[in-house]
Amino acid sequence: MAKKKLKSTDYETSVFPTWCPGCGDFSIWASIKQSLAELEIPPHMLNVIYGIGCSGNMCSFVNAYGFHALHGRALPNAIGAKLANSDLATLVINGDGDNYGEGMNHWINSMRGNHDLTHIVHDNMIYGLTTGQASPTSQTGMKTKTTPDGDLDQPVNPIVLALEAGATFVARGFAGDHAHLTQLFKAGLQHKGYAFIDVFQPCVTYNHQQTYDWYRDRIYRLEDQKHYDTTNKPRALERAHEFGDRVPIGLFYQEQRPVYHEELPHVKQPLVGNPLKADVGKYVKEFL
Ligand code: SF4
Repeated sequence: MAKKKLKSTDYETSVFPTWCPGCGDFSIWASIKQSLAELEIPPHMLNVIYGIGCSGNMCSFVNAYGFHALHGRALPNAIGAKLANSDLATLVINGDGDNYGEGMNHWINSMRGNHDLTHIVHDNMIYGLTTGQASPTSQTGMKTKTTPDGDLDQPVNPIVLALEAGATFVARGFAGDHAHLTQLFKAGLQHKGYAFIDVFQPCVTYNHQQTYDWYRDRIYRLEDQKHYDTTNKPRALERAHEFGDRVPIGLFYQEQRPVYHEELPHVKQPLVGNPLKADVGKYVKEFL
């Protein structure tokens, strides 16, 4: 019998998203489902680990294995899950608050290992779920509930950080460009190793500064630039620092490096279906 072609609706659940109408999360959700269907990754071969935030609510809207982690702890959970069962495609979904705030330390250290994960950050430059506080990517001077006179902090630059910390696939997308975003997600899912995709995701309720129009006036695609070389890290860093009248999106950088779990003989094959042969009880006793 011919194999049934997967459709994006195969990744939906009976729960329709509760995001505010117009939220960029809808487009990211659509691009995730579309990229999974096009790559024919069936729901039972997909594990998605979510952080806390509006993006993390996607846990109820995606048909796959899923785990809703503590605030800032999506990545260590995803690494553990991947080490236990490397057969599953493993996706990490969180937001700028969860990843660059509570989870910053986990993020930086995760990138050093080149774990085989596809990591999508919904970057709306504000804490949305908790109703509008400044996040690590909020722009200096931005007025929010926690910064009524304007944010005094410098925003973090996720693309620069990812390049410097050793991510082997570094990209940025825009929720207002569904087709481009889908291509980036597909490339990230096909990358062997840690694929990082920061997504400009307008929060229509709490961020009235970085709107769809604000992005559309500034962004340009790296793919449209003649001679842009995605293997040239110094050049990628130059582009990553560009954040003003012009802001690049697309694939900044990609390299191949050994994948973490493949360097460990005892987890190279998934533990699932290959139980440990060692007498675990003996080792547990040693610790007691
Ligand atoms: Fe989206 Fe912002 Fe509403 Fe959250 S608060 S669902 S990020 S528009």
